[in-house]
Amino acid sequence: MRATASGLRLARRLGSPPPGWTTAADVIVVGSGIAGLTAALRLRRRVPRVLLVTKTVLSSGSTLWAQGGVAAALADTDSPQAHLQDTLVAGAGLCDEAAARALVTEGPDRIRDLIALGANFDLGADGQVLLTREGGHHADRIVHAGGDATGAEISRALVAALEAVREDPGIEVIEQALVLDVLTGAPDGDGRAGPACGVSLHVIGEGSRDGVGAALGKAVVLATGGIGQVFSSTTNPKEATGDGSAAALRAGAELADLEFVQFHPTVLWLGAGARGQQTLVSEAVRGEGAHLVDVDGARFMLGRHELAELAPRDVVAKAIVRQSALTGTDHVFLDARHLGKAFLDERFPTITMALAEHGYDLAEDLVPVAPAQHYHSGGVRVDLRGRSSLQGLYAVGETSCTGVHGANRLASNSLLEGLVFAHRIADDIAGRVEGGDLGAVDPQERAGLVGLVGASQRVRVQKAASAGPGVIRSAEGLAAAATQLAAITHRHSAAADVLASSAEWETTNLHQVASVLTLAAELRAETRGGHYRQDFPSTDDDRWRGRTAVWVTPDGAVATRFRGL
Ligand SMILES: Cc1cc2nc3c(=O)[nH]c(=O)nc-3n(C[C@H](O)[C@H](O)[C@H](O)COP(=O)(O)OP(=O)(O)OC[C@H]3O[C@@H](n4cnc5c(N)ncnc54)[C@H](O)[C@@H]3O)c2cc1C
Repeated sequence: MRATASGLRLARRLGSPPPGWTTAADVIVVGSGIAGLTAALRLRRRVPRVLLVTKTVLSSGSTLWAQGGVAAALADTDSPQAHLQDTLVAGAGLCDEAAARALVTEGPDRIRDLIALGANFDLGADGQVLLTREGGHHADRIVHAGGDATGAEISRALVAALEAVREDPGIEVIEQALVLDVLTGAPDGDGRAGPACGVSLHVIGEGSRDGVGAALGKAVVLATGGIGQVFSSTTNPKEATGDGSAAALRAGAELADLEFVQFHPTVLWLGAGARGQQTLVSEAVRGEGAHLVDVDGARFMLGRHELAELAPRDVVAKAIVRQSALTGTDHVFLDARHLGKAFLDERFPTITMALAEHGYDLAEDLVPVAPAQHYHSGGVRVDLRGRSSLQGLYAVGETSCTGVHGANRLASNSLLEGLVFAHRIADDIAGRVEGGDLGAVDPQERAGLVGLVGASQRVRVQKAASAGPGVIRSAEGLAAAATQLAAITHRHSAAADVLASSAEWETTNLHQVASVLTLAAELRAETRGGHYRQDFPSTDDDRWRGRTAVWVTPDGAVATRFRGL
């Protein structure tokens, strides 16, 4: 184990006015994607009172946008063991095998639960769920809905199930509620962070739930999704600003594997100035035979990898960045014209519609594409029960790091992770609440800096993150990004009544996540999975077969640790 202090310091609380109202529940669930909704629905039946809060509306988050499907060994010819094998290979030696085993073993039952809840997956003529295959899977095990609209159907079914019980006194839902910080109790005698006992949140509402308040609970479940907006372009929706990871960090919890970011190679390129969520063109389009060509019309993936355009995502993403540089542009083209309009419209209705909004037709046009951030394998480090390093704090879904993805996520394992671990968390919390292991704790003001980064700095944060811990990384590029991020000024204040807006709170979260991600990417001097260092192009098992962790000490210093497996 190697532990070091980094020299980086971070605020331990967001600047905000003091809570003007307080509410309480047994468990506070933050986020309403697949992970948060699944956890809340199961907890509702197991603890007296659950509070679900979500930043915008119930259907918000990446879940709604998922196209391909959910992986689970449902076919007679498939097995959890085979699914495990594929997951471990994709994870490049860093998967937590026990967590991955739980994922693949419990996955099929969780899919059946979803079907029982009302999710309509695509069925074959025999009435059985249709299973397809995606990159890295050696069996047909991807369940999908509406062709390429799987996430929308899952979200619809979960939101409908929640709406059906919304009047139940055992559950309260607050929408338009941006969680700011995880509230913590008194630190222990050794100065270690105190237990989680609720959240502070800003609600755009009416009456008693308006403005900044506090929601107190015996356990807090962070299900806030990804960090995509840290980068200039991403497939993630606007809510994906890494709020859960940043809040956990400020509260003293450990984050792990932050350097492992998956960049999707084929995202619609709308010009150098395009920011935020961009349209994903699924690899299934390449799977059906579409080619990648550079601006001169050359098929540059031929000869670069035996699978050509169907090489692993990181290989294709790197090749696109390099080919774009060679041809003096920042994009290449996807050519699906030979597949024909009738086929493309039927097979890819969502993608066809999304591209049409930008004036592109897969059947007639070369579609400009470039890599964009897509998925974060790292996050709040949790164990098999979803417990973080902080008593009472849980994390689930993309904001968590269970270790199932290791250094790279196998396609369609992320929705499954949300389902499986939300279920586990609900059971763990219910047992602990009932057994008295989790009780009410009074929040204490945390020592350390209070921070806010102005919303005008958002683009600077995104540019630094894209140039530093982007698709192609190097010590030089990462050091430059770290310097740029450190130069971004904070409105630090010891006063508790700083006036702020959602944009400032989110920008502070983006800045903190970008800073620790850059640090983790600097630390890992090798190439593995989603982490490509051009100055260390090989995988170094002797030195780096293990996991990195980052946390903030009570005085605001950022510490890092590497633990070999
Ligand atoms: C375009 C696209 C396609 C994808 N395709 C697939 C696929 O085919 N298969 C697959 O397995 N995975 C896919 N993924 C990844 C997968 O969709 C996500 O990893 C998964 O949906 C994450 O679920 P989640 O519940 O953790 O988070 P999300 O679904 O992102 O939900 C997060 C929730 O937290 C809320 N929130 C965030 N911050 C706060 C805050 N501060 N306060 C309160 N609430 C907050 C959000 O509003 C949202 O409700 C895809 C992702 C994208 C973007």
